[in-house]
Amino acid sequence: MKTTPNTTKKPFIIAGPCSAETEEQVFEIAAQLSEIGKVNMLRAGIWKPRTRPGNFEGVGEIGLNWLVNAGKENNLPVTTEVANAKHVELALKAGVDMLWIGARTTVNPFSVQEIADAVKGTNIPIMIKNPINPDLQLWVGAIERIQKSGISDISAIHRGFSSYEKTNFRNEPKWGIPIELMRIFPDLPIICDPSHIGGKRELIESISQKALDMNMAGLMIETHHTPDKAWSDAAQQITPNILNQLLNNLVVRNKQSNNQEFVTKLEDLRIDIDSLDEKLLHIVAERFQLTNQIGKYKKNQNITILQKDRWFEILKSRKEFGKSLNLNSEFIDQLLKLIHKESVAIQTKIMNK
Ligand code: PEP
Ligand code: MN
Repeated sequence: MKTTPNTTKKPFIIAGPCSAETEEQVFEIAAQLSEIGKVNMLRAGIWKPRTRPGNFEGVGEIGLNWLVNAGKENNLPVTTEVANAKHVELALKAGVDMLWIGARTTVNPFSVQEIADAVKGTNIPIMIKNPINPDLQLWVGAIERIQKSGISDISAIHRGFSSYEKTNFRNEPKWGIPIELMRIFPDLPIICDPSHIGGKRELIESISQKALDMNMAGLMIETHHTPDKAWSDAAQQITPNILNQLLNNLVVRNKQSNNQEFVTKLEDLRIDIDSLDEKLLHIVAERFQLTNQIGKYKKNQNITILQKDRWFEILKSRKEFGKSLNLNSEFIDQLLKLIHKESVAIQTKIMNK
């Protein structure tokens, strides 16, 4: 059986250029990656989805053989992105070992279904990138479509989410979304793509470490022998040599421990956390009971739900109190806004009765 993220215990490392550019380029990168001895799979984009026309859109079909042959010569299985049935057919015919569905394709159930139909009856392993927008259900739906086509070896790729505001990341990681995906599919390996999250070289190592700390199954890192000259995504590619150093720097932590003292201590602390969580929820329930009473009074007296001054005062005083308890003020801000939103919803229901 071919090695895929599903079949290894150690973090599964996929590396290779954003795009296949020339035959020499693909072979050179494959050789250098094989040399460092830590890479499990070679990647290269053959068909490139570009936001605006006129940019390099991939070499197309001709690059498939470069990729497959470079993989064979260096003993590396290979993967590429497919966005439609024709891509699937050509990639399978060329002997690509694993396919991935890109972020711009996952957003479109028609395209995902077309790919699902095209792979039916094959046992090709598939990785599914998160959709561009932070919509967990679209990601889940794409995974379900591929599952339904009978493919058993499925992994997900977390490549971050587009946001309108400019942030330090090219694509916001929003770690909560892949963590929620783990809850929905506990056995699904998730590979992190720090290159597309970071968008610049300097960020790749810290994002990779965070991904391993989040228990992700592997990393897909864009690698090029001359990154500055890359035809696409130049700013985020690193050389195989830098990749080697980066992989050496990463700390792979154990998922579990055999140290009995540690296990017992952890269990004790978890029991305390469980009991505090219970108390916390009791207090939340009690608070909403008061909200209920207030809602009824307001209705009787025909008073607006939102009392601006009271709300601003709550926000200000609780944040100050939170500070005195050493609580992160952004966290307190979000927590109060969430509670307030629910409180308004409860009172709205009462008003409309
Ligand atoms: C890529 O992997 O080069 C790519 C186009 O990724 P994404 O679909 O995550 O943008
Ligand atoms: Mn890329």
